[in-house]
Amino acid sequence: MRLGIVVPCYNEEEVLSETAARLLALLDRLIERGIIDAQSRICFVDDGSKDTTWSLIEQLCLESLHVSGLKLSRNRGHQNALLAGLLTVEGDALISIDADLQDDITIIEQMVEQYHKGFDVVYGVRKERTVDTPFKRATAEGFYKLMRLMGVDIVYNHADYRLLSRRALEELRRFKEVNLFLRAMVPLLGFKSTQLYYDRAERFAGESKYPLKKMLSFAWDGITSFSIMPLRFITATGFLIFIATLLMSAWVLGVKLFSDEAVPGWASTVLPIYFIGGIQVFALGIVGEYIGKIYMESKERPRFIIEKKI
Ligand code: UDP
Ligand code: MG
Repeated sequence: MRLGIVVPCYNEEEVLSETAARLLALLDRLIERGIIDAQSRICFVDDGSKDTTWSLIEQLCLESLHVSGLKLSRNRGHQNALLAGLLTVEGDALISIDADLQDDITIIEQMVEQYHKGFDVVYGVRKERTVDTPFKRATAEGFYKLMRLMGVDIVYNHADYRLLSRRALEELRRFKEVNLFLRAMVPLLGFKSTQLYYDRAERFAGESKYPLKKMLSFAWDGITSFSIMPLRFITATGFLIFIATLLMSAWVLGVKLFSDEAVPGWASTVLPIYFIGGIQVFALGIVGEYIGKIYMESKERPRFIIEKKI
C-alpha cells in the first residue's frame, strides 16, 4: 500500500526540518517493516510562505527520495493548501497533518492498520486539550457544539488530521465548493469511517498561524457553508413578531373601542407599525429561504456517491 502524507506549511521555517526528520524516520520504519510501499511520499505544500519555507522544502526533496513539494502561487489559507495536496498527491491513501506536529504521528501506523481493515476514512480525534489555553479550548469546544446545534455533521474534536482512501479522495474531488471547510465535507462523503484518539501536544517551535481573527472567520465559514439555520432563524423571528402583533392588535382595538383612555390617532399609528414590522421580518426570512436554496444549488455538490459497483 502506497501512502502519502500531506503537510500544509505557511511560514514554517522554524519547525520544518524537525518535522521532516520525524516523519521521514517514521516512514522509513513503516517501509522497513513492509507495512507501506517504498513508493510512499511526504508532500509539503507551501501555502505562499514569505520566509524560507520553500527553499527548505526544495532542499529536503534533494536529500530524500521520499519527499516531494508543492508550491501554491500565493497564500490561500490552510484548507485550500490541504485540498491542493489531497487532490494532487498520488497514493492509495493520504494522511493530512499540520506542519507543527501538534498531532501525534505515532498513530499513523494505526491509521494504516484501519485502512487495511477496510475503513476509507480514519479520523484523528483529540483526547485532551490540556496544552491549549483555556480560551482556545473553550472557543474550540464551543464551536464544535454550535456546529452540531446547527445541524452540521462534524466529528467532535477532530481537526484536519485524518486518513482518506483513494476512492474517498476521488469523491472529494467532485465537491466543487469554493468556501472550504474540509472537516464537515468529509462526513458528507460517507463510506466506512472510524476514529483514533490521541493527546494533542504543544507546538514545538514557531507560533500559531491561526490568530483569533482567522479562527473566527474560519468558524463563520464553517457555519455559513453548511447550515441555512441562520436564515431560518430570521423566518422564525418574523413569525413570532407577527403572532405578537395579532395579540397587540386585539389589545389596541380593545382600548380604542371599550375605554376612553385612547389618545386620538394612537390605534391607527401603532397598529400598522407592529403589523408591518412583523410582516417585513417574516418576508425577509422567506426571501432568505429561497436564497438558501439558491446557495445550496450553486454549490453543485454531487447528489450521490457510489460506494461499490459489481
Ligand atoms: N497553514 C497554512 N496556511 C495558512 C495558515 C496555516 O497552510 O494560511 C498551516 C500551518 O503551516 C500549519 C497548519 O496550517 O501546518 C495549522 O496551523 P497552526 O498550527 O498555526 O494552527 P493551530 O494549530 O494553532 O490551530
Ligand atoms: Mg498547530
